[in-house]
Amino acid sequence: MDHNKLAELLFPETTAKPEDIEARFPERELPEGANVTRIGPSPTGFVHLGNLYNAIIGERIAHQSGGVFYLRIEDTDNKREVEGAVETVINAMNYFGVHFDEGAVADGDNGSYGPYRQRQRKDIYHVFAKHLVQMGLAYPCFMTAEEIDALREHQTENKENPGIYGKYAKCRDLTIEQIKEKMDAGKEWVLRYRGTETDEYFSIVDAIRGKLEMPRNNMDFVLLKSDGIPTYHFAHVVDDHLMRSTHVIRGEEWLSSLPMHVELFNALGWKQPIYCHTATLMKLEGTGKRKLSKRKDPELALSYYQKEGISPDAIWEFLLTVLNSNFEEWRIANPDADYRDFPYSLSKMSISGALVDLDKLRNISKDVIGRMKAEDVRDGWLKWCEEYNDEYAQLIKKYPERTLAALNVGRMAAKPRKDIETWKQACDFMSFYYDETFHITDEMPEECDEATVKEFFAKYLASYDHSDDSSAWFAKVKELTEELGFAVKPKDYKKNPDQFKGSIVHITNMLRIALTGHANAPDIHEVSHVLGEDIVRKRLEKWA
Ligand code: GLU
Repeated sequence: MDHNKLAELLFPETTAKPEDIEARFPERELPEGANVTRIGPSPTGFVHLGNLYNAIIGERIAHQSGGVFYLRIEDTDNKREVEGAVETVINAMNYFGVHFDEGAVADGDNGSYGPYRQRQRKDIYHVFAKHLVQMGLAYPCFMTAEEIDALREHQTENKENPGIYGKYAKCRDLTIEQIKEKMDAGKEWVLRYRGTETDEYFSIVDAIRGKLEMPRNNMDFVLLKSDGIPTYHFAHVVDDHLMRSTHVIRGEEWLSSLPMHVELFNALGWKQPIYCHTATLMKLEGTGKRKLSKRKDPELALSYYQKEGISPDAIWEFLLTVLNSNFEEWRIANPDADYRDFPYSLSKMSISGALVDLDKLRNISKDVIGRMKAEDVRDGWLKWCEEYNDEYAQLIKKYPERTLAALNVGRMAAKPRKDIETWKQACDFMSFYYDETFHITDEMPEECDEATVKEFFAKYLASYDHSDDSSAWFAKVKELTEELGFAVKPKDYKKNPDQFKGSIVHITNMLRIALTGHANAPDIHEVSHVLGEDIVRKRLEKWA
């Protein structure tokens, strides 16, 4: 077989040579040790948590080392492509604070290693496909889907490995005349790699999993599909070589195809990147763990976190906790540090499944928001409301000072309050600060009958002086408590329940409910000052 002749027959229009392409994608000029990483999402319209999970690793190890982090759109599967999906990926990453140094942008490319959308790189793949044909390492295969299905069935029945290899690779040894004849007859073909029949093993060091022993590839796998678009395997090898990725960070579902990739890197004489296969995202169910599923678990979609109003910082902190076993310890030792200062390390990653625990996420989110300055809380919340809750966006803008003062309640304390868990829940929590959304959810304590309620609020209002400081205010509350036959010290009431109607706890609960709608609310004196005298009087008069 004259391989050059076959290459010309298959790729008559491909005139560039591998060296021409190599010259277009020179080695990057980066400091020693700088890492080049990427994410390669498919534009299916569904951006999942795993995309962000891998993006955070890539971003960290690139930027911690002074390297480059880029976005490549892996759109080789046009059946799955959805319009606007590239923008969806870019916007989601942007929302969660993942910034690329280069790669696909909404209306094109940014960077000199593009194009960054695989379908636009067809000519480049063809140069290397032609080269593999010239080396005798690739050939056209005309097998139909039906033939392949029938073969698979036969192999399964006979307990043989399924696939196209060795004696089953029907088109391996077609003559050039036979190939030409089929092509002239308009038969569709794919380009297959010519695998070697072998039972050898090779070893490879995965930066997360350590040393792996794997069987060498023996399959005649597909390089180009019948429309000339490459498979993931071929595109990955060509792109990560040319774009000079130092690390390939991807989900562990790709581990089983690693032998094909290693085979191709070797066949093309290229240096392999460092592979980092990340653990699958899991969730707790009953007493065990299971894989997160797109069908059953809304939390697999990145949009879920956006809609729930999880701040970008919270999701970073959460994923860093999942990703590196020592992050939590570091956070305790460095409560005020930026999470970007955490020395991220691939070797500290778990390989046994990454647990997505939403309760934990909400707790982390609460801590993150609790540590933020009130101004930043307001800005983050407003940004979210502008997209998801217009009513609150308007309220925040209508009452800027009150909002800020409300967010400051209990914030600067030694143990700051952690009332806000997410931007969505902030709308609930903050509702009592605005008359437009104020509503009462709790009932007055049962220790306070109607007459007591009436009497209390009438007397409270009569002696209310908005300029009282916290201790003067509290002295009055205690006085009233006693006057109404309630215990000033809760433990006195506990000891002698018959001697009192209730305790000061019930009195302050009444106040909280009247002012905020809830028995559980921040400091009454502080809240009253945020609301202002008019609102305080109006809310309390209702009960007097
Ligand atoms: N397109 C692949 C995916 O969405 C990317 C895998 C990789 O990063 O190489 O899973």
